[in-house]
Amino acid sequence: MEAASAPPPPPLPPPAAAIISTTTLMGKYRLGRLLGRGSFAKVYRATSLADGSDVAIKIIDKTKPITKVMEPHIMREVAVMKRLRSHPNILEIHEVMATKTRIFLVMELASGGELYSKIRRRGRLPEGLARRYFQQLVGALRFCHENGVAHRDIKPQNLLLDQSGALKVSDFGLSALPEQLTNDGLLHTACGTPSYTAPEVLERKGYDGPKADAWSCGVILFLLLAGYLPFEDSNLAALYKKTNARDYHFPEWFSKPAKTLTYRLLDPNPNTRMSLEALVGTAWFKRSLSPSNPQCRIPSCPPSPLGSFQKQCEFDAVSTMNAFDIISLSSGLDLSGLFETTNQKLGKRFTSSATFEAISEKMKEIGGKLGYSVEKGKGGSIGLGKGTVSLMVEVAEITESLFMVEVKVVGGSEANFEEAHWGGWKDGLHEIVLSWHNDVA
Ligand code: ADP
Ligand code: MG
Repeated sequence: MEAASAPPPPPLPPPAAAIISTTTLMGKYRLGRLLGRGSFAKVYRATSLADGSDVAIKIIDKTKPITKVMEPHIMREVAVMKRLRSHPNILEIHEVMATKTRIFLVMELASGGELYSKIRRRGRLPEGLARRYFQQLVGALRFCHENGVAHRDIKPQNLLLDQSGALKVSDFGLSALPEQLTNDGLLHTACGTPSYTAPEVLERKGYDGPKADAWSCGVILFLLLAGYLPFEDSNLAALYKKTNARDYHFPEWFSKPAKTLTYRLLDPNPNTRMSLEALVGTAWFKRSLSPSNPQCRIPSCPPSPLGSFQKQCEFDAVSTMNAFDIISLSSGLDLSGLFETTNQKLGKRFTSSATFEAISEKMKEIGGKLGYSVEKGKGGSIGLGKGTVSLMVEVAEITESLFMVEVKVVGGSEANFEEAHWGGWKDGLHEIVLSWHNDVA
Protein backbone atom coordinates (compact mmCIF):
# COMPACT_ATOMS: atom_id res chain seq x y z
CA MET A 1 0.00 0.00 0.00
CA GLU A 2 1.06 3.51 -0.62
CA ALA A 3 1.11 4.57 3.00
CA ALA A 4 3.40 1.65 3.96
CA SER A 5 6.00 2.56 1.35
CA ALA A 6 6.06 6.28 2.23
CA PRO A 7 9.40 7.38 3.74
CA PRO A 8 9.28 8.05 7.48
CA PRO A 9 8.65 11.70 8.32
CA PRO A 10 11.76 13.70 9.27
CA PRO A 11 12.30 13.90 13.02
CA LEU A 12 10.69 16.94 14.62
CA PRO A 13 13.04 19.56 16.00
CA PRO A 14 12.99 19.60 19.81
CA PRO A 15 10.52 22.14 21.23
CA ALA A 16 12.08 25.39 22.41
CA ALA A 17 11.35 24.57 26.05
CA ALA A 18 13.34 21.35 25.76
CA ILE A 19 16.36 23.23 24.47
CA ILE A 20 16.13 25.81 27.23
CA SER A 21 15.66 23.25 30.00
CA THR A 22 19.08 21.75 29.34
CA THR A 23 20.77 25.08 30.00
CA THR A 24 22.53 25.21 33.33
CA LEU A 25 23.54 28.54 34.82
CA MET A 26 26.86 28.71 36.64
CA GLY A 27 26.46 25.04 37.50
CA LYS A 28 23.72 25.95 39.98
CA TYR A 29 20.36 26.46 38.25
CA ARG A 30 18.53 24.74 35.42
CA LEU A 31 16.87 27.38 33.27
CA GLY A 32 13.19 26.99 32.40
CA ARG A 33 10.68 29.05 30.43
CA LEU A 34 10.64 32.80 29.90
CA LEU A 35 8.38 34.45 32.49
CA GLY A 36 8.52 38.02 31.29
CA ARG A 37 10.48 40.75 29.67
CA GLY A 38 11.31 44.03 31.34
CA SER A 39 12.68 47.18 29.85
CA PHE A 40 16.24 45.89 29.99
CA ALA A 41 16.09 42.29 31.12
CA LYS A 42 14.50 38.90 30.61
CA VAL A 43 13.17 36.89 33.50
CA TYR A 44 13.22 33.07 33.41
CA ARG A 45 11.85 30.40 35.65
CA ALA A 46 14.62 28.14 36.98
CA THR A 47 15.24 25.27 39.36
CA SER A 48 18.02 25.13 41.90
CA LEU A 49 20.20 22.07 41.33
CA ALA A 50 21.14 22.08 45.02
CA ASP A 51 17.67 21.63 46.52
CA GLY A 52 15.21 21.46 43.61
CA SER A 53 13.46 24.69 44.64
CA ASP A 54 11.91 26.94 41.98
CA VAL A 55 13.22 30.46 41.52
CA ALA A 56 13.06 33.30 39.00
CA ILE A 57 16.25 34.58 37.40
CA LYS A 58 16.47 38.01 35.86
CA ILE A 59 19.16 38.02 33.19
CA ILE A 60 20.62 41.33 32.21
CA ASP A 61 22.83 41.59 29.16
CA LYS A 62 25.65 43.96 30.08
CA THR A 63 26.69 44.52 26.49
CA LYS A 64 23.45 46.21 25.36
CA PRO A 65 23.72 50.01 25.15
CA ILE A 66 20.53 50.44 27.20
CA THR A 67 22.08 48.45 30.01
CA LYS A 68 24.90 50.96 30.30
CA VAL A 69 22.27 53.57 31.15
CA MET A 70 20.30 51.26 33.39
CA GLU A 71 23.18 49.71 35.30
CA PRO A 72 22.98 52.07 38.25
CA HIS A 73 19.35 51.05 38.58
CA ILE A 74 20.25 47.38 38.51
CA MET A 75 22.79 47.77 41.26
CA ARG A 76 20.30 49.92 43.12
CA GLU A 77 17.74 47.15 42.78
CA VAL A 78 20.10 44.57 44.21
CA ALA A 79 21.10 46.76 47.14
CA VAL A 80 17.50 47.71 47.93
CA MET A 81 16.05 44.22 47.60
CA LYS A 82 18.76 42.77 49.80
CA ARG A 83 18.00 45.35 52.40
CA LEU A 84 14.25 44.74 52.32
CA ARG A 85 14.36 40.97 52.12
CA SER A 86 12.43 40.21 55.31
CA HIS A 87 8.96 41.47 54.34
CA PRO A 88 6.44 38.87 53.10
CA ASN A 89 5.10 41.21 50.41
CA ILE A 90 8.45 42.24 48.95
CA LEU A 91 9.96 39.92 46.40
CA GLU A 92 13.03 38.34 47.94
CA ILE A 93 16.37 38.33 46.20
CA HIS A 94 18.39 35.18 46.88
CA GLU A 95 21.68 35.80 45.13
CA VAL A 96 23.44 37.79 42.46
CA MET A 97 25.89 36.28 40.02
CA ALA A 98 27.72 37.85 37.16
CA THR A 99 29.90 37.03 34.23
CA LYS A 100 31.71 39.51 32.05
CA THR A 101 28.65 40.01 29.86
CA ARG A 102 25.67 39.18 32.01
CA ILE A 103 24.23 39.79 35.47
CA PHE A 104 21.92 37.20 37.04
CA LEU A 105 19.54 38.19 39.81
CA VAL A 106 18.18 35.04 41.43
CA MET A 107 14.84 35.85 43.06
CA GLU A 108 11.88 34.31 44.74
CA LEU A 109 9.45 32.95 42.12
CA ALA A 110 6.10 34.73 41.87
CA SER A 111 4.27 32.02 39.96
CA GLY A 112 0.90 33.80 40.04
CA GLY A 113 2.23 36.36 37.51
CA GLU A 114 1.39 40.03 37.30
CA LEU A 115 -1.59 41.56 39.08
CA TYR A 116 -2.03 43.57 35.90
CA SER A 117 -2.81 40.45 33.82
CA LYS A 118 -5.42 39.48 36.37
CA ILE A 119 -7.17 42.83 36.08
CA ARG A 120 -6.94 42.75 32.30
CA ARG A 121 -8.39 39.23 32.28
CA ARG A 122 -11.22 39.66 34.72
CA GLY A 123 -11.66 43.43 34.97
CA ARG A 124 -12.27 45.20 38.27
CA LEU A 125 -11.97 43.30 41.51
CA PRO A 126 -14.61 42.96 44.22
CA GLU A 127 -13.98 45.45 47.04
CA GLY A 128 -12.86 42.80 49.58
CA LEU A 129 -10.21 41.36 47.26
CA ALA A 130 -9.07 44.81 46.11
CA ARG A 131 -8.65 45.80 49.76
CA ARG A 132 -6.61 42.68 50.49
CA TYR A 133 -4.11 43.44 47.71
CA PHE A 134 -4.12 47.09 48.69
CA GLN A 135 -3.35 46.29 52.34
CA GLN A 136 -0.42 44.14 51.25
CA LEU A 137 0.89 46.86 48.94
CA VAL A 138 0.63 49.56 51.60
CA GLY A 139 2.22 47.28 54.22
CA ALA A 140 5.18 46.63 51.92
CA LEU A 141 5.60 50.31 51.08
CA ARG A 142 5.47 51.41 54.71
CA PHE A 143 8.17 48.87 55.44
CA CYS A 144 10.26 50.35 52.59
CA HIS A 145 9.74 53.87 53.91
CA GLU A 146 10.68 52.90 57.44
CA ASN A 147 13.91 51.53 56.02
CA GLY A 148 14.72 54.69 54.10
CA VAL A 149 13.62 53.60 50.62
CA ALA A 150 10.83 54.90 48.40
CA HIS A 151 9.81 52.60 45.55
CA ARG A 152 8.84 55.32 43.03
CA ASP A 153 7.79 52.91 40.31
CA ILE A 154 4.63 51.43 41.72
CA LYS A 155 2.44 50.14 38.91
CA PRO A 156 0.52 46.89 38.54
CA GLN A 157 3.20 45.40 36.24
CA ASN A 158 5.54 45.53 39.21
CA LEU A 159 3.04 43.90 41.56
CA LEU A 160 3.38 40.13 41.26
CA LEU A 161 1.48 37.30 42.91
CA ASP A 162 2.95 34.15 44.40
CA GLN A 163 1.37 30.73 44.17
CA SER A 164 -0.83 31.37 47.20
CA GLY A 165 -2.03 34.68 45.76
CA ALA A 166 0.03 36.91 48.08
CA LEU A 167 1.18 40.19 46.58
CA LYS A 168 4.92 40.66 45.97
CA VAL A 169 6.26 44.10 45.19
CA SER A 170 9.10 43.82 42.69
CA ASP A 171 11.30 45.87 40.43
CA PHE A 172 13.15 48.23 42.72
CA GLY A 173 15.31 49.38 39.81
CA LEU A 174 14.05 52.94 40.02
CA SER A 175 13.66 53.22 43.74
CA ALA A 176 15.14 56.32 45.32
CA LEU A 177 16.63 57.30 42.04
CA PRO A 178 18.96 60.30 42.15
CA GLU A 179 17.25 63.44 40.92
CA GLN A 180 19.45 64.05 37.89
CA LEU A 181 18.47 60.67 36.48
CA THR A 182 14.74 61.32 36.74
CA ASN A 183 15.38 64.37 34.58
CA ASP A 184 16.89 62.25 31.86
CA GLY A 185 14.47 61.97 28.92
CA LEU A 186 15.57 58.42 28.25
CA LEU A 187 14.27 57.29 31.56
CA HIS A 188 10.76 58.33 30.64
CA THR A 189 10.92 56.19 27.55
CA ALA A 190 12.14 53.24 29.57
CA CYS A 191 9.41 53.67 32.17
CA GLY A 192 6.52 53.93 29.73
CA THR A 193 3.61 56.31 30.25
CA PRO A 194 3.87 57.73 33.73
CA SER A 195 0.17 57.29 34.53
CA TYR A 196 1.06 56.24 38.06
CA THR A 197 3.41 59.09 38.80
CA ALA A 198 2.58 61.92 41.21
CA PRO A 199 2.25 65.39 39.63
CA GLU A 200 5.14 66.83 41.65
CA VAL A 201 7.39 64.10 40.20
CA LEU A 202 6.19 64.89 36.68
CA GLU A 203 6.95 68.52 37.46
CA ARG A 204 10.52 67.46 38.19
CA LYS A 205 10.59 69.43 41.41
CA GLY A 206 12.25 68.05 44.48
CA TYR A 207 9.77 65.74 46.15
CA ASP A 208 9.14 63.53 49.11
CA GLY A 209 9.46 59.84 48.14
CA PRO A 210 6.87 58.36 50.54
CA LYS A 211 4.30 60.98 49.49
CA ALA A 212 4.92 60.17 45.83
CA ASP A 213 4.37 56.47 46.65
CA ALA A 214 1.11 57.41 48.42
CA TRP A 215 -0.09 58.99 45.16
CA SER A 216 0.73 55.80 43.23
CA CYS A 217 -1.24 53.84 45.85
CA GLY A 218 -4.23 56.05 45.05
CA VAL A 219 -3.87 55.19 41.35
CA ILE A 220 -3.61 51.47 42.14
CA LEU A 221 -6.64 51.57 44.46
CA PHE A 222 -8.66 53.27 41.73
CA LEU A 223 -7.48 50.70 39.17
CA LEU A 224 -8.28 47.70 41.39
CA LEU A 225 -11.80 48.94 42.10
CA ALA A 226 -12.60 50.47 38.69
CA GLY A 227 -10.74 48.11 36.34
CA TYR A 228 -9.21 51.07 34.48
CA LEU A 229 -6.84 53.93 35.23
CA PRO A 230 -7.99 57.28 36.61
CA PHE A 231 -5.71 59.28 34.30
CA GLU A 232 -4.48 58.30 30.88
CA ASP A 233 -2.98 60.33 28.10
CA SER A 234 -0.15 59.60 25.73
CA ASN A 235 0.80 63.27 25.95
CA LEU A 236 2.79 64.03 29.07
CA ALA A 237 1.64 67.67 29.33
CA ALA A 238 -2.01 66.66 29.00
CA LEU A 239 -1.54 63.92 31.58
CA TYR A 240 0.02 66.38 33.99
CA LYS A 241 -2.91 68.76 33.50
CA LYS A 242 -5.39 66.02 34.30
CA THR A 243 -3.62 64.83 37.44
CA ASN A 244 -3.29 68.39 38.72
CA ALA A 245 -6.94 69.23 38.03
CA ARG A 246 -8.23 66.00 39.62
CA ASP A 247 -9.77 65.30 36.25
CA TYR A 248 -11.21 61.80 36.74
CA HIS A 249 -14.59 60.28 37.55
CA PHE A 250 -15.55 57.60 40.01
CA PRO A 251 -17.69 54.82 38.60
CA GLU A 252 -20.99 54.51 40.45
CA TRP A 253 -20.07 51.20 42.15
CA PHE A 254 -17.32 52.78 44.31
CA SER A 255 -18.34 52.75 47.99
CA LYS A 256 -18.30 56.09 49.80
CA PRO A 257 -15.26 55.30 52.01
CA ALA A 258 -13.31 53.93 49.02
CA LYS A 259 -14.08 57.15 47.14
CA THR A 260 -12.95 59.31 50.05
CA LEU A 261 -9.65 57.46 50.44
CA THR A 262 -8.87 57.46 46.72
CA TYR A 263 -9.72 61.15 46.54
CA ARG A 264 -7.42 61.98 49.46
CA LEU A 265 -4.54 59.91 48.05
CA LEU A 266 -4.95 61.49 44.61
CA ASP A 267 -4.45 64.95 46.06
CA PRO A 268 -2.11 66.85 43.67
CA ASN A 269 -0.71 68.81 46.60
CA PRO A 270 1.75 66.52 48.43
CA ASN A 271 1.47 68.62 51.59
CA THR A 272 -2.23 67.94 52.01
CA ARG A 273 -2.19 64.45 50.44
CA MET A 274 -3.07 61.62 52.79
CA SER A 275 0.02 59.85 54.07
CA LEU A 276 0.23 56.07 54.28
CA GLU A 277 0.38 56.36 58.09
CA ALA A 278 -2.97 58.18 58.10
CA LEU A 279 -4.38 55.72 55.58
CA VAL A 280 -3.67 52.65 57.70
CA GLY A 281 -5.63 54.17 60.59
CA THR A 282 -8.87 54.44 58.62
CA ALA A 283 -11.78 52.07 59.22
CA TRP A 284 -12.03 51.05 55.54
CA PHE A 285 -8.37 50.07 55.40
CA LYS A 286 -8.41 48.20 58.71
CA ARG A 287 -11.39 46.06 57.80
CA SER A 288 -10.45 42.35 57.80
CA LEU A 289 -6.77 43.22 58.14
CA SER A 290 -4.74 40.25 59.29
CA PRO A 291 -2.86 40.99 62.52
CA SER A 292 0.25 39.24 61.25
CA ASN A 293 1.53 42.15 59.20
CA PRO A 294 5.17 42.25 60.23
CA GLN A 295 6.88 45.54 60.80
CA CYS A 296 10.28 44.05 61.45
CA ARG A 297 13.36 46.22 61.28
CA ILE A 298 16.49 45.15 59.52
CA PRO A 299 19.36 45.09 61.98
CA SER A 300 21.99 45.74 59.33
CA CYS A 301 20.28 48.96 58.33
CA PRO A 302 21.30 51.66 60.82
CA PRO A 303 19.52 55.01 60.89
CA SER A 304 20.83 57.40 58.29
CA PRO A 305 24.03 59.13 59.35
CA LEU A 306 22.86 62.06 57.26
CA GLY A 307 19.49 62.48 58.94
CA SER A 308 16.65 63.07 56.55
CA PHE A 309 15.05 60.58 54.20
CA GLN A 310 16.18 62.48 51.13
CA LYS A 311 19.78 62.49 52.31
CA GLN A 312 19.65 58.78 53.05
CA CYS A 313 18.64 58.12 49.47
CA GLU A 314 21.43 60.24 48.09
CA PHE A 315 23.88 58.54 50.39
CA ASP A 316 22.79 55.11 49.23
CA ALA A 317 22.78 56.09 45.59
CA VAL A 318 26.36 57.27 45.72
CA SER A 319 27.76 54.10 47.24
CA THR A 320 25.73 51.94 44.88
CA MET A 321 27.01 53.84 41.90
CA ASN A 322 30.54 53.11 42.99
CA ALA A 323 29.80 49.44 43.28
CA PHE A 324 28.23 49.49 39.86
CA ASP A 325 31.20 51.27 38.35
CA ILE A 326 33.56 48.66 39.63
CA ILE A 327 31.47 45.71 38.59
CA SER A 328 30.49 46.82 35.14
CA LEU A 329 33.38 48.85 33.94
CA SER A 330 36.14 46.97 35.67
CA SER A 331 38.04 46.00 32.60
CA GLY A 332 38.26 49.64 31.56
CA LEU A 333 38.96 51.03 35.00
CA ASP A 334 42.31 51.61 36.54
CA LEU A 335 42.04 49.97 39.92
CA SER A 336 45.72 49.87 40.65
CA GLY A 337 45.37 52.54 43.32
CA LEU A 338 43.49 50.04 45.46
CA PHE A 339 46.47 47.76 45.81
CA GLU A 340 50.07 48.10 46.74
CA THR A 341 51.69 48.52 43.40
CA THR A 342 54.58 46.36 42.40
CA ASN A 343 56.03 46.09 38.96
CA GLN A 344 54.63 42.63 38.57
CA LYS A 345 51.73 41.61 36.36
CA LEU A 346 48.20 42.06 37.64
CA GLY A 347 46.94 39.14 39.66
CA LYS A 348 43.57 37.43 39.40
CA ARG A 349 40.93 39.85 40.60
CA PHE A 350 37.35 39.48 41.66
CA THR A 351 34.69 41.48 43.47
CA SER A 352 32.89 39.99 46.44
CA SER A 353 30.05 41.13 48.67
CA ALA A 354 31.05 38.72 51.43
CA THR A 355 32.52 40.25 54.61
CA PHE A 356 36.25 40.86 54.95
CA GLU A 357 36.45 38.03 57.49
CA ALA A 358 34.51 35.62 55.29
CA ILE A 359 36.81 36.34 52.35
CA SER A 360 39.96 35.79 54.44
CA GLU A 361 38.57 32.61 55.94
CA LYS A 362 37.60 31.28 52.53
CA MET A 363 41.08 31.93 51.13
CA LYS A 364 42.68 30.09 54.04
CA GLU A 365 40.17 27.24 53.82
CA ILE A 366 40.79 26.67 50.10
CA GLY A 367 44.54 27.04 50.59
CA GLY A 368 44.41 24.43 53.38
CA LYS A 369 42.47 21.99 51.20
CA LEU A 370 44.91 22.43 48.33
CA GLY A 371 47.92 21.84 50.58
CA TYR A 372 49.09 25.45 50.99
CA SER A 373 50.60 26.70 54.20
CA VAL A 374 49.30 30.05 55.39
CA GLU A 375 51.56 32.88 56.42
CA LYS A 376 50.59 36.36 57.44
CA GLY A 377 51.57 38.76 54.68
CA LYS A 378 52.46 42.41 55.16
CA GLY A 379 49.77 45.08 55.67
CA GLY A 380 46.92 42.66 56.39
CA SER A 381 47.46 40.62 53.23
CA ILE A 382 47.50 36.83 53.31
CA GLY A 383 50.53 34.85 52.17
CA LEU A 384 50.11 31.28 50.96
CA GLY A 385 52.82 28.88 49.92
CA LYS A 386 53.06 25.42 48.39
CA GLY A 387 56.33 24.00 47.08
CA THR A 388 57.96 26.71 45.02
CA VAL A 389 54.76 28.73 44.54
CA SER A 390 53.97 31.69 46.82
CA LEU A 391 50.78 33.66 46.60
CA MET A 392 49.77 36.96 48.07
CA VAL A 393 46.10 37.76 48.56
CA GLU A 394 45.01 41.35 49.09
CA VAL A 395 41.50 42.48 49.95
CA ALA A 396 40.54 46.10 49.27
CA GLU A 397 37.29 47.69 50.39
CA ILE A 398 35.49 49.53 47.61
CA THR A 399 32.22 50.33 49.35
CA GLU A 400 30.75 49.25 52.66
CA SER A 401 29.57 45.97 51.21
CA LEU A 402 31.86 45.40 48.25
CA PHE A 403 35.45 44.20 48.21
CA MET A 404 37.98 43.71 45.45
CA VAL A 405 40.25 40.73 45.98
CA GLU A 406 43.50 40.13 44.18
CA VAL A 407 45.44 36.85 44.13
CA LYS A 408 49.02 37.38 42.95
CA VAL A 409 51.80 34.90 42.29
CA VAL A 410 54.78 36.48 44.09
CA GLY A 411 57.14 33.52 44.04
CA GLY A 412 57.67 30.60 41.66
CA SER A 413 56.44 30.12 38.15
CA GLU A 414 53.19 31.82 37.23
CA ALA A 415 52.64 29.40 34.35
CA ASN A 416 53.12 26.48 36.68
CA PHE A 417 50.61 27.90 39.17
CA GLU A 418 48.15 28.60 36.39
CA GLU A 419 48.33 25.07 35.07
CA ALA A 420 48.58 23.04 38.24
CA HIS A 421 46.73 25.02 40.92
CA TRP A 422 44.42 27.70 39.55
CA GLY A 423 41.51 25.37 38.70
CA GLY A 424 41.25 24.30 42.35
CA TRP A 425 41.33 27.88 43.59
CA LYS A 426 38.71 29.03 41.13
CA ASP A 427 36.29 26.21 42.00
CA GLY A 428 36.69 26.90 45.69
CA LEU A 429 36.14 30.64 45.32
CA HIS A 430 32.91 30.21 43.39
CA GLU A 431 30.73 30.90 46.46
CA ILE A 432 32.13 34.33 47.28
CA VAL A 433 32.79 35.73 43.80
CA LEU A 434 30.39 38.37 42.52
CA SER A 435 32.27 38.88 39.29
CA TRP A 436 35.71 38.11 37.89
CA HIS A 437 37.89 40.84 36.54
CA ASN A 438 40.70 41.16 34.05
CA ASP A 439 40.95 38.05 31.94
CA VAL A 440 39.75 35.40 34.32
CA ALA A 441 37.47 33.17 32.28
P1 ADP B 1 12.23 45.34 34.47
O1 ADP B 1 12.95 45.86 35.66
O2 ADP B 1 13.13 45.27 33.29
O3 ADP B 1 10.92 46.03 34.22
P2 ADP B 1 10.92 43.25 35.89
O4 ADP B 1 11.63 42.95 37.13
O5 ADP B 1 9.71 44.14 36.01
O6 ADP B 1 11.90 43.82 34.81
O7 ADP B 1 10.53 41.87 35.21
C1 ADP B 1 9.87 41.83 33.96
C2 ADP B 1 8.69 40.87 34.02
O8 ADP B 1 9.13 39.54 34.34
C3 ADP B 1 7.66 41.21 35.12
O9 ADP B 1 6.75 42.18 34.71
C4 ADP B 1 7.05 39.84 35.37
O10 ADP B 1 6.08 39.52 34.41
C5 ADP B 1 8.22 38.89 35.20
N1 ADP B 1 8.88 38.63 36.49
C6 ADP B 1 9.85 39.38 37.06
N2 ADP B 1 10.24 38.87 38.23
C7 ADP B 1 9.51 37.76 38.43
C8 ADP B 1 9.45 36.77 39.47
N3 ADP B 1 10.23 36.84 40.54
N4 ADP B 1 8.57 35.74 39.35
C9 ADP B 1 7.77 35.69 38.26
N5 ADP B 1 7.78 36.57 37.25
C10 ADP B 1 8.63 37.59 37.31
MG1 MG C 1 9.20 46.10 35.41
